[in-house]
Amino acid sequence: MPVTITEYLRPKSLREALDLLADEPSKNVAVGGGVTVVLSGAPRHVRAVDLAGVGLDKISLKDDVLELGAMVTLQNVICSAHAQKVASGLLPRALRTAASEPIRRLITVGGNIVQCFYWATLPPLLLALGGRVHLRRAGHQRTLSVDEFFAQPPLRLLAPGELVTSVEIPVRSNVSAGFQKHTKTANDYALIHAVAVIEHERKKVKAARLVLSACTSLPVRCREAEQVLVGKTLDLATAMEAARVAAHHVALRRDFRASSDYRRKAAAVLMQRAILEAAGIPPLAASTLS
Ligand SMILES: Cc1cc2nc3c(=O)[nH]c(=O)nc-3n(C[C@H](O)[C@H](O)[C@H](O)COP(=O)(O)OP(=O)(O)OC[C@H]3O[C@@H](n4cnc5c(N)ncnc54)[C@H](O)[C@@H]3O)c2cc1C
Repeated sequence: MPVTITEYLRPKSLREALDLLADEPSKNVAVGGGVTVVLSGAPRHVRAVDLAGVGLDKISLKDDVLELGAMVTLQNVICSAHAQKVASGLLPRALRTAASEPIRRLITVGGNIVQCFYWATLPPLLLALGGRVHLRRAGHQRTLSVDEFFAQPPLRLLAPGELVTSVEIPVRSNVSAGFQKHTKTANDYALIHAVAVIEHERKKVKAARLVLSACTSLPVRCREAEQVLVGKTLDLATAMEAARVAAHHVALRRDFRASSDYRRKAAAVLMQRAILEAAGIPPLAASTLS
């Protein structure tokens, strides 16, 4: 059962929004793009606080950090020249696979990462890119690493009346990335996302962040697999081994869409392709491995 909205408020500043949300927090719900706001927790009557007018819709690039305001839409990110500078254009490239363009014009950064449905596209990208999430509630603010933010369902992490205000993503020149998504049909929810973000130093892997999602309940880093890559020169054999380790260690979700066995095999193939994409090894070579 969805929540029932009994009152709809449009604050004009962040402070006004935070004050409204602080007043009987359990009876309020913040509205980002509003796409699935009615699915916000247990059924109850709520007052909706729309964040559209509070100034959280900026994208900035400063000191090698990309900052996305919570009300920036996925389509805004796709069209942003600043976002293009992160990990060889990973964000625009991957976000184009989310939903359809009319829906991407509504979905916000804040709503997407707070609700964090298993099929959500931005959470695995942020977890793979690293960075931080800024949060605020009346009289209080805090910053969490993306690893801390996605360690539990974010809706449970937020204190009553607390908002995500922005996310920060590091921009590094020696980083490449690969993104793979698997669905049953072009418009279906994702079955698997695999993201590889790799930092290079003298033709070797200095650091790697490998993330699987959609086949898991929350996006997860595959830390054992990351260690397989560190210090190596990327080639087919290394990518295959890291992908095998990634799929082996991850706890898979189950539903009517696919068996765990299928998800594990497919996750290994997708991760292998993501690593090879990050390594610049052509897709033809990758497809011979599947
Ligand atoms: C047909 C369809 C296909 C879709 N496919 C995809 C897809 O492939 N990939 C994908 O990523 N998404 C997809 N989505 C969107 C996704 O399912 C969610 O609906 C979307 O991420 C919600 O974002 P929103 O900005 O509309 O948030 P809202 O619906 O406004 O809010 C969602 C929740 O987040 C809270 N919230 C919103 N903003 C903030 C904030 N700044 N701080 C704290 N809490 C906040 C709200 O209170 C609410 O609980 C799809 C949606 C549809 C309808």
